[in-house]
Amino acid sequence: MAIFEIAILGRVTWNLHSLNNEGTVGNVTEPRTVVLANGEKTDGISGEMLKHIHAYNVWLLQEDKSQFCEACQKFHPQKADENKLVTGVQTDKKIPSDQKSIVAMGKAISSCSLCDLHGFLVQRPTVARPSTVEFGWALGLPEKTHRDIHLHARHSMVGRSREETEAEKGEEAPERVTAQMIYHRPTRSGTYAIVSVFQPWRIGLNEVDYNYTAVNDDKRKSRYQLALNAYKATFVRTDGAMTSTRLPHIEAIEGIVVISETNFPAPAISPIKDDYIIQTENLVRGQKGLSTKKFSNLTD
Ligand SMILES: [Zn+2]
Repeated sequence: MAIFEIAILGRVTWNLHSLNNEGTVGNVTEPRTVVLANGEKTDGISGEMLKHIHAYNVWLLQEDKSQFCEACQKFHPQKADENKLVTGVQTDKKIPSDQKSIVAMGKAISSCSLCDLHGFLVQRPTVARPSTVEFGWALGLPEKTHRDIHLHARHSMVGRSREETEAEKGEEAPERVTAQMIYHRPTRSGTYAIVSVFQPWRIGLNEVDYNYTAVNDDKRKSRYQLALNAYKATFVRTDGAMTSTRLPHIEAIEGIVVISETNFPAPAISPIKDDYIIQTENLVRGQKGLSTKKFSNLTD
């Protein structure tokens, strides 16, 4: 495959979202807070959340779900660990014990594009494959991030007590009254720095014996294309926590994609720095096999 690695470095502006949170204490949900190297606190959306959104888009965009293992067809997080072709290797007497992890890894990769792209952990035989898609935290630029806790009331209609009904006899009062549950929900608006690295060179690579025999080149290409489309879907419609009532208003996206066509890692300078595009371009200029493409909206 011609593409070795791709780094996506950018800034995304999301308004009024609540994409991921620390958790809920009582009726208050706390937004995520992270600390930067200079001690400054800011808002963050975890890499786990972004990777999960990307994985979901891989699943969604693949029309032929038979390209996934049993677990991934239902988007179960166990992935290859629930794939009988893989776990069956452990008890298969025809496979010598020193070959089991090689065979298990090969079967996991050949039977599932999501396992191949996003990695997995199988307990028996023990095989671990890191993801080919990596996300860092989305970091709110401190001077461009705002958060608010909003108070909401959930209304529910309940029957009134007998006393009230008795007291209101003869009056034209409604037959039901409203009960309220007060809760607090964080809402954030801000521009976030995003870093992601995609390693197409590892698609189909058996990382126990380092060969590419598990899948053919056509399959590797279609998995590569699937992962790229999942990136697009992730940024044009960002799903996460609380999107049923806090669907983010996506206002802007800009950044730079670094493409490495040789076996040199694509540099990933954080977009938290204002000059990240200039710095990246300078780095790329001095290195053979690297190129860049800037983007400033969702259609680039
Ligand atoms: Zn799978």
